[in-house]
Amino acid sequence: RAKESGRNRFKVFTERMLESAVDLLTLENDMRRGLANDEFHVAYQPIMDLAGSDIIGFEALARWDHPDRGAIPPAEFIPMAEESGLIIELGEWVLVQALRTLAGWRNETDGTDDIFMCVNLSSKQFARTDLDKIVVRALERYGLPPSCLKLEITESSIMGNPESSLRILNRLRKAGVRFSIDDFGTGYSSLSQLQQLPVDTLKVDRTFISRMRTDPENMEIVKAVIALGHSLDLNVVAEGVENPDQLCSLLNLSCNSVQGFYFHEPMSAAKAKDLLKQRTQKTAEDTREKLALA
Ligand code: C2E
Ligand code: MG
Ligand code: MG
Ligand code: MG
Repeated sequence: RAKESGRNRFKVFTERMLESAVDLLTLENDMRRGLANDEFHVAYQPIMDLAGSDIIGFEALARWDHPDRGAIPPAEFIPMAEESGLIIELGEWVLVQALRTLAGWRNETDGTDDIFMCVNLSSKQFARTDLDKIVVRALERYGLPPSCLKLEITESSIMGNPESSLRILNRLRKAGVRFSIDDFGTGYSSLSQLQQLPVDTLKVDRTFISRMRTDPENMEIVKAVIALGHSLDLNVVAEGVENPDQLCSLLNLSCNSVQGFYFHEPMSAAKAKDLLKQRTQKTAEDTREKLALA
């Protein structure tokens, strides 16, 4: 009998495994089709300068509107895209969309010359040794200066292939493209590695920001990361700022910039353009108002 129940357990187990494997395959096929059928778009989330509370840049974020399942979050389709290699195609598509959009804003809206665009890079994209050429070609295609592009890498995305990744990063840096380290604090990079990377921005991971006001240890981590960033002459961006208390602490810690729902959620290119048009000197006033709520 023991054998019997063991066999049943095995059967249930393999059926579940098969189901989830089939789910993943379906999702992968759907994604291939989705890329061909315009089911993807890019959302843009403003990044704000803390002192003036003005928009200084945007982060391009992939969005998928599945015809049957509705919006599928990146947390679901990005890992799958990385697993299957589709991230290479998706990542390049997002890059081109984001640059095309930025070029449109620059042509049609005043005061946008200094606005930068952040695009996420996955580790798989570093497997292509011609990544730098793809990026430079995309910039040229839209007549954009390389300095308006900031590529977001994570500590782990370059660990897979540190030497060749570093070569690509350095070539792009030489071309004038800038880099941020995304989700900083969640990976394993050592300080000496950090010093070697041609980055100019650290993005403090959202998990630390979300707990900084309730957990003193997280507050200390945020403090330490901001101090580290500044001592290495890097800009520090706080991700996921959701309330005035967090903003107030970050201002006290001289964090350089912020990104989060308290300011703006990711939005369509059209909405972002409207926002850029409305941008006036009254932004400083807004900060004072926002801080008054703390
Ligand atoms: P990320 O690069 O760290 O992007 C920031 C994420 O935080 C975005 O989630 C954004 O919507 C979210 N966020 C921003 N402010 C707040 C806030 O105040 N509160 C909360 N709760 N969340 C906030 P999203 O768009 O769901 O993307 C998740 C992750 O998926 C991204 O994290 C990035 O790692 C990945 N991803 C998205 N688009 C791409 C892409 O085109 N290529 C690659 N390689 N990865 C992407
Ligand atoms: Mg990012
Ligand atoms: Mg991030
Ligand atoms: Mg993050």
